[in-house]
Amino acid sequence: MSPQKEAGLQSLEQQVERASFFTHTALSRCSIRVNEVESFTYGLVDLLLEKGILNSDEVRSKVETIREESIARGDAAGPGLALRVDGTNADQQPEVKVNCAERMPICHSICCKLDFPLSVEEIESGEVRWDLGRPYHIRHGEDGHCVHRNQESGFCGVYEHRPGICRTYTCARDTRIWKDFEKMELNTEWLEEHLKGRDQPQMLGAVLYQIQAAPQQSVAAKDEGGS
Ligand code: SF4
Ligand code: SF4
Repeated sequence: MSPQKEAGLQSLEQQVERASFFTHTALSRCSIRVNEVESFTYGLVDLLLEKGILNSDEVRSKVETIREESIARGDAAGPGLALRVDGTNADQQPEVKVNCAERMPICHSICCKLDFPLSVEEIESGEVRWDLGRPYHIRHGEDGHCVHRNQESGFCGVYEHRPGICRTYTCARDTRIWKDFEKMELNTEWLEEHLKGRDQPQMLGAVLYQIQAAPQQSVAAKDEGGS
């Protein structure tokens, strides 16, 4: 691919990222407002119950009916995105240093198939890619590995800029990875079941509206006007 095309694609990707960031921020704001409405509604219902204006069994039954109807319609609340917030010890090195180079022929850096959300700082740094289909999780390739993994060496391709969670992670006590860490025996059952390949992107509930044809009358009026 020519450098010009590559630059064009990169710029397009940045635009998509910006657009998605905006959309998800807007969705988050909506969620906050929904929470406010929820608090208000609960408060109001509590008050009406306290005053004996409503009956709690009737309210519960009505709520259950509306919930079931909402689930049946597929109206899921929430923007479905995740961001990571690191604690104060985010910069700490792993307690147990792992001899990755020795283990790589066995583990094939399987830890880089684990899923995690990125932090705001990591997203904004532009050094690591997030999955546009599962905001803001680290992006995985078709084989399920993080896209930043060097396919030849198996090592991290963005080592200097790797996410905080990759800096502090150690597989030494991760029984999902190793059945027996010392003997280098992988937990193949768990890995087979959970880390086969890339997850499917998550779709938010979407509704398509048909654009109504303009009423005939107004089309005629426009024609008559000669525009
Ligand atoms: S941290 Fe563990 S699983 Fe990941 S590459 Fe190193 S040895 Fe392999
Ligand atoms: S950023 Fe690097 S260390 Fe972290 S999951 Fe991706 S390849 Fe592995």
